[in-house]
Amino acid sequence: MTDFDLLIQLHIRQLRQGPGGQDETLLAARLAGVNAEQRLTIADIGCGTGAAALTLAEHFNCDLTAIDFLPAFIEELKVRAEQRGVANKITAQTGDMANLPFEEQQFDVLWSEGAIYNIGFKQGIKAWRKFLKPGGKIVLSELTWLTQNRPYELTNHWQKEYPEVATAGEKIAQLERNGYKLLGYFPLPEYCWVDNYFQPLVERFDSFKAQFPEKSSEVDALIEEQQQEISMYQKYKAYWSYGVYVAEKIAS
Ligand code: SAM
Repeated sequence: MTDFDLLIQLHIRQLRQGPGGQDETLLAARLAGVNAEQRLTIADIGCGTGAAALTLAEHFNCDLTAIDFLPAFIEELKVRAEQRGVANKITAQTGDMANLPFEEQQFDVLWSEGAIYNIGFKQGIKAWRKFLKPGGKIVLSELTWLTQNRPYELTNHWQKEYPEVATAGEKIAQLERNGYKLLGYFPLPEYCWVDNYFQPLVERFDSFKAQFPEKSSEVDALIEEQQQEISMYQKYKAYWSYGVYVAEKIAS
């Protein structure tokens, strides 16, 4: 078992694999004009085990395609979709967000929480636009500076880890330059990180250790990495979060 396999095992039983929340998913849906009356085609890109996909399928009349490059997450999503009674609305499949197996203008809504960074926000919004119908909506959560001025250590950290990190103003300008009109923006509040993501992860550490006793040094290193991410958030949460961007495809 590789370190990457261990990382998957740490996260696969979690409700979500990144910060966010059901209320925030539903708020973004409202900003995108999604309502229960229309039948919509939706793609959730980098869906993980389905935090957003399952919420959307439960609340809206939709045909939802959930895609992630990890087969284990897709299999887990399928099990959860059955358990939550929405399997008939969700097609879950493996695939690469850099090379999506979709048709042009296939979707009313593209959704991606905490995942577009894997190919970069700029590349993602350009590459995915063609899959939206005219007037289609895109909903993205993305690492975002909350302030113009920040401690050097923090700026330095994220410039190395994800050089595309920027303020909401810059992200919105990128959307506008690439054929989208902003419909709404909000930063994820603290509980989306602490209560919904970090706390359940910390609660998983003991059972994770017990699950892989023969891999204790790798497990400890992985837990240490997660602890550092949590400490980084706690220390600097005034300066960064994920921003949720809701935009409409316009003619360009
Ligand atoms: N959207 C989920 C959520 O909010 O719980 C998962 C977020 S997790 C931080 C990022 C997800 O992106 C992971 O499930 C990962 O497997 C997926 N991912 C990473 N690179 C990918 C790629 N190139 N194509 C498709 N999915 C990818």
